[in-house]
Amino acid sequence: MEFRDLKQQYQLHKAEIDEAIQSVLNRSDFINGSCVKKLESELAEYIGVKHCITCANGTDALQLALMTWGIGVGDAVFVPDFTFFSSGEVVPLVGAVPVFVDIDKDTYNINPQSLEKAIVHILQNTDLKPRVIVAVDLFGQPADYEQIKQIADRYDLFILEDAAQGFGGKIGERKACSFGDIATTSFFPAKPLGCYGDGGALFTDNDEWAQLLRSYCVHGKGKDKYDNVRIGMNSRLDTLQAAVLLVKLPIFEKTELAAMDSLSKSYSDRLQNYVKVPVIKEDYFSSWAQYTIQLKSQTIRDGLQQFLKDNGIPSAVYYKKPMHLQDAFGEQQYDDAEYINTNQLCKTVLSLPFHPYMTEEDVDVLMEKIIEYIKKSEE
Ligand SMILES: *Cc1c(COP(=O)(O)O)cnc(C)c1O
Repeated sequence: MEFRDLKQQYQLHKAEIDEAIQSVLNRSDFINGSCVKKLESELAEYIGVKHCITCANGTDALQLALMTWGIGVGDAVFVPDFTFFSSGEVVPLVGAVPVFVDIDKDTYNINPQSLEKAIVHILQNTDLKPRVIVAVDLFGQPADYEQIKQIADRYDLFILEDAAQGFGGKIGERKACSFGDIATTSFFPAKPLGCYGDGGALFTDNDEWAQLLRSYCVHGKGKDKYDNVRIGMNSRLDTLQAAVLLVKLPIFEKTELAAMDSLSKSYSDRLQNYVKVPVIKEDYFSSWAQYTIQLKSQTIRDGLQQFLKDNGIPSAVYYKKPMHLQDAFGEQQYDDAEYINTNQLCKTVLSLPFHPYMTEEDVDVLMEKIIEYIKKSEE
């Protein structure tokens, strides 16, 4: 059983993918080739925003957004405490201070009450200037943008949507990657829409920011890359990766998203009496970057993971360590007691094998083994 079955996906679509790769080799337009432009326009249309700018990976995308807004020394950027390292890593990279915020224990996304409390705390107790909220669409479910937007407006902050895991999610008919003033995603192979290496993209409706992003990702170019008007990065999506994504985008949109949605329902139906299953809010749609359950204690979580492993079933803990405890960030604005939900969830979550190509037999084995272990642990 695979945690995320990239081999099966490739085998099913091999002819088209091989042809797309071969055509790039034939043209040898490896950098800024025709597929890159085509992908950007297809992605912008799919999301429903004016501009899509591709780049080298999801981490660079976040950094490029902060650079475009001129975030730096003296600025505070609010980041959920429960996320992948990148969401916070980019903040000190541009010279600003990350302020970690506790999450909602059902959705795993930033908790709006904790967010407002953190903003007030920074305003009252530090000289830092609140500038940006990084809202992460964790495990595929969009964050609570209705409430986040109200807070952003109240304190005049930008919303940076980190949709590295959220690509394909929706609130009502509106798609993830359209909720932030700037939104970012990642095409790392195991993300909802993955390429065959590293890749990323930014989305925005703002013309001025789009133009700045295009400059920052190519050495701060002015008229061209030999006319440099600002300090930038070298962050481009390879044409080969764009070619793979052009094949995979329609497959993702037309078949994989629906397959994952129905798989999630069957997991939840079968598991809900035994573990805490994912909570998707009314009118929200997840892209199912992960199917994550919660166990009653760390002992049961660790025991279940070991039991699955002994039965040849992979699983993963996203995330083991809260951001505020990562040594790299140094001293924090807040003490540990502010992070009740994150501290708890790091001990009790477990992400299960989950992808559009799970066979019924694999699902049966997975469900049976989880239920068997939980029943035994409750004896
Ligand atoms: C994967 C991920 C990133 C970084 O994407 P890369 O393409 O690996 O740089 C950023 N944020 C979140 C939430 C992620 O899951």
